[in-house]
Amino acid sequence: MPLADARRTIVTAALPYANGDIHMGHVTSTYVPADIYTRYLRISGQEVVYVCGADEHGTPIELAARERGVDPSEHAEYFRTRQLRDLESMGVHFDSYYRTHSEENRSLTEHFLLRMRENGHIAAEWVQSYYCEKDRKYLPDRFVLGTCPHCGAEDQYSDGCEVCQRALEPGEILKPRCAVCGAPPVTRRTKHFFFKLSGFSDALRAWLKGKKSEDVPAEVVNHVLSWIEGGLRDWDITREDYWGFRLPYPDAGDNQYAYVWVDAPIGYFASFLRWASLHDPKKEAWLKDPGTRLVHFIGKDIVQHHLIFWPAMLMAVSEYVMPSKYVVNGYISLEGKKMSKSRGWYIPVQRATSRYPSDYLRFYLAYKAANATGDSNFSWTEFQDRVNRELADNIGNFIHRVLTFTQNNFEGKVPKPGKLSSIDEQFSRYIDGMPHDLRQSYELCNFSKVVQGLVAAFMVANRYFNDKKPWSAVKSNRSDAATTTYLCLKFVKAAVALMYPIVPVMAERIWEQIGEASLVESRPLAPGTTLGLDAGRPIPKPVPLVSKIEDDKIEEEARWLETQLGMEDEKVTQEIVSIEEFKKIDIRIAKVLEAEEVKGSRNLIKLKVDAGGERTLVAGLAQHYSAKDMVGKQIAIVANLKPAKIFGIESKGMLLAAVDGSKVSLLVVDREVSPGTRVE
Ligand SMILES: [Zn+2]
Ligand SMILES: [Zn+2]
Repeated sequence: MPLADARRTIVTAALPYANGDIHMGHVTSTYVPADIYTRYLRISGQEVVYVCGADEHGTPIELAARERGVDPSEHAEYFRTRQLRDLESMGVHFDSYYRTHSEENRSLTEHFLLRMRENGHIAAEWVQSYYCEKDRKYLPDRFVLGTCPHCGAEDQYSDGCEVCQRALEPGEILKPRCAVCGAPPVTRRTKHFFFKLSGFSDALRAWLKGKKSEDVPAEVVNHVLSWIEGGLRDWDITREDYWGFRLPYPDAGDNQYAYVWVDAPIGYFASFLRWASLHDPKKEAWLKDPGTRLVHFIGKDIVQHHLIFWPAMLMAVSEYVMPSKYVVNGYISLEGKKMSKSRGWYIPVQRATSRYPSDYLRFYLAYKAANATGDSNFSWTEFQDRVNRELADNIGNFIHRVLTFTQNNFEGKVPKPGKLSSIDEQFSRYIDGMPHDLRQSYELCNFSKVVQGLVAAFMVANRYFNDKKPWSAVKSNRSDAATTTYLCLKFVKAAVALMYPIVPVMAERIWEQIGEASLVESRPLAPGTTLGLDAGRPIPKPVPLVSKIEDDKIEEEARWLETQLGMEDEKVTQEIVSIEEFKKIDIRIAKVLEAEEVKGSRNLIKLKVDAGGERTLVAGLAQHYSAKDMVGKQIAIVANLKPAKIFGIESKGMLLAAVDGSKVSLLVVDREVSPGTRVE
């Protein structure tokens, strides 16, 4: 595999949805890996632009803004600012962090939509859309709640079920109701515009099959190919009364907008164009230049949008570069349990970066970024262990030791090496070969392998230093001590350049300590640049680099996570009733005196019971019990339930039964008691 050549690259990271703060899961899967790759390309002498921005459209933001009583753009801007602050605190540096609700993105989205239609890829079809007569508004996506048609989960949004993770098409949800007022919506016939995705099956298949495994992970390709084989459905890109961009078609209604997933990926281009317009307008041409590499970093939850919808849109428009490479990371759990914002089981980036240097966090997170869709785990004790054992003891300590040794024994200057022994030769060859091996892993965006390679390299260097014992040689064989020191400094220089993408702040500081100018400016991995070291160069007085993380600090993390979970538990306790509330429910034992099936009904049984006085109940049990079997049973009933007329019969109370799916079992007493006995 060739190493990065001098081509130009646009790196994108999935646009964070501007409706919440960034947590460690997001930065691990996407933003830190994309930042590492960008930094790697940059010091390799490539032209690279890292773009991202806030994804601001769609119903979740509109609904959240309604709740806060603000405009959706104000709500999105609030989170955009916070998200950027969080990302920057992790040492993530974007060349452009823009927004989808921008003029640049509006005009580009309109251009895409018009070209897609001109090129024959948009069809109009009549569909049924939900409409709330009370709110006088169409109800797209999350404006409708209901029951999932696949798994039966209640209170799911009409665009997808959070329980079974299935995406839902408009109209599929059962028992729909308006998310604003709760009323059941009516449906209205509206003309929608569909992107004819089905026509791109062959082109997408060919494009994917042409990808090398280092550019799209093979498991991702296979997954997407299986979706294509399953048949692609045309994609409804129309939403009424929506927070987004108006459809630019003359025959579209004034209230018809483009679905958020149309303008979101176009937002990468808009963010890039924004950067170009501010820095070098000629570079706007990159988007159409086949020499440009377009590299997308995404989480595995948005593979479908980035490997089907987006490339098909690009093919339909047929003007821009196609994506060259995808880096897809899996989910990360927290202390062995699935991260969940709603349950409070997550770490906000703000929390982490206010307590630890971003480099420590990045060093640990790099282990989790293998460019593989398998899931990994974040653990505070593992973080502590990696930082203390690897970053502090192995890496930081070695560098500090070598620099201090140089300071104390060679007047703070790089010593001139003497004749190399075979062990020196071996170490020297190791240093020369190290960049190539680590760069291979960088090219594959397997940063887990990079960090493992770095740790192993420092172990080799530590062993060499300890075997050569320059602290004793300096007294007896000064030239040998000089050789050892020289080679160790040379190693530090090469290793620091290779570490920079992962721990940029620390690397810059060490680079300075070995008397070099900025790493970013010197681009030490660029073709033709050598990582050699001149003897005689002064080495400023070193300062310690890494401090260990104490146990109490990590114990605080565990306690903090528990309190967060506890806060969510309070919400659960609100649903727990007090004993007084429970006592309001009058549950009594009743003896069934007579029972008959209600004629004309499919499931009702009419019961005459003695609950310390006779009364009539109607129960939906005929599918589970025959009327005559119920006579004589002592059952439990809610005696003070408001009477209800069922099939013309007044039912006073409700009988209690255990319902296990389709299996129903009456609650009966274990020992006979007098009718009317209270249950408490
Ligand atoms: Zn479901
Ligand atoms: Zn409504």
